Amino acid sequence: MEYRVLARKYRPSNFDDLIGQEVLVRTLSNAIASGRIAHAFLLTGIRGIGKTTTARIIARALNCIGSDGKGGPTISPCGVCPNCTMIAEDRHVDVLEMDAASHTGVGDIRELIDTVRYLPTSARYKIYIIDEVHMLSNNAFNALLKTLEEPPPHVKFIFATTEARKIPVTILSRCQRFDLKRINTEMLTEHLKNICGKENVSAEEEALTLISVAAEGSVRDSLSLLDQAIARASDDKITAGSVRQMIGGADNTATFRLLETLLRGDVAGALAQAKEAYINGADPLLFLQDCLEVTHLITRVKVASVVLSDVSLSEHDRATAKQLAEQLSMPVLARLWQMLLKGVGELRAAPSPLAALEMLLVRIAYAAALPTPAEVIRSGVDASAPAAPLAANSPRRWRIS
Ligand SMILES: [Zn+2]
Repeated sequence: MEYRVLARKYRPSNFDDLIGQEVLVRTLSNAIASGRIAHAFLLTGIRGIGKTTTARIIARALNCIGSDGKGGPTISPCGVCPNCTMIAEDRHVDVLEMDAASHTGVGDIRELIDTVRYLPTSARYKIYIIDEVHMLSNNAFNALLKTLEEPPPHVKFIFATTEARKIPVTILSRCQRFDLKRINTEMLTEHLKNICGKENVSAEEEALTLISVAAEGSVRDSLSLLDQAIARASDDKITAGSVRQMIGGADNTATFRLLETLLRGDVAGALAQAKEAYINGADPLLFLQDCLEVTHLITRVKVASVVLSDVSLSEHDRATAKQLAEQLSMPVLARLWQMLLKGVGELRAAPSPLAALEMLLVRIAYAAALPTPAEVIRSGVDASAPAAPLAANSPRRWRIS
């Protein structure tokens, strides 16, 4: 049997299957119930949120005649009448789809608008779905506007776009607009869980949450990731570990180890670890960026422990970040961040990034011996005076709060 990707197999064909878009469904239900159906709809939202899928469901809702052939527009299209089935199969002569990204010119729009005056062949409404509508040229928009100002009663337009602000207000003002929202992580995870059930695939809950987080609210992206996770699953089980590996969740173990060594003042140890990472193929600049990321994480954990419930972090990262957040004071973390950040520019400018990284690590280890500005003030030491007693000639442990 031919394998169909999940995003296609589970493409919603009615509003019940369309998750997370309650506002749209409610508004459209009211419009249908009161017989005040707009002439044009605008669907906006990020890529992969389901704009064209929604457009097709609206086309079905407006054209459904019910299983007995006598029904009117409905929020629950029957799915069995000729209009429903032909729209689902993308072959209804009265439902025309155009991708504005490849048909931007006024000629394309004129050609389309020429057909507007003809009555639908078999459907109730002739429906024009124009995807990526913001790509139309100004002339094309003007040509479209004339039709939108006086649309024939048998015509409905459904526009879809990722960038509503690029659409002229004259067009916008003539559309009923629906902003399709990103699906939140819990809802998306639940959706993936259902699909795994239907596909007879077992998956760790954390694995599905990881996929949902990575998909950033897009159902389509989450299903593509799930496809990949299924392909990689060993023993027919999707694990959090394999998903983390798949979506490139960084393994921060080495970075944490280096920071701990450094903050203990063990310069030789830190240099050896950096060298080892380099020999194993780590790019010094990326390594530094990992250090920044980890410092940022520890700082966030320190100010808001809720960060620790972020499942995109591995168990090890969470535990280590918590431990370091307890040990390091905020001024120390701020200084570490600044030194690392400054190092990024130095590494970029240096003929040998590895040498620059090593020099930076040495500097950070030695800075461990310096008091923070607050400590200088507290101890009454004149900061402008030569820091003779503090000019350690061996690195010391970073001050622990
Ligand atoms: Zn139907």
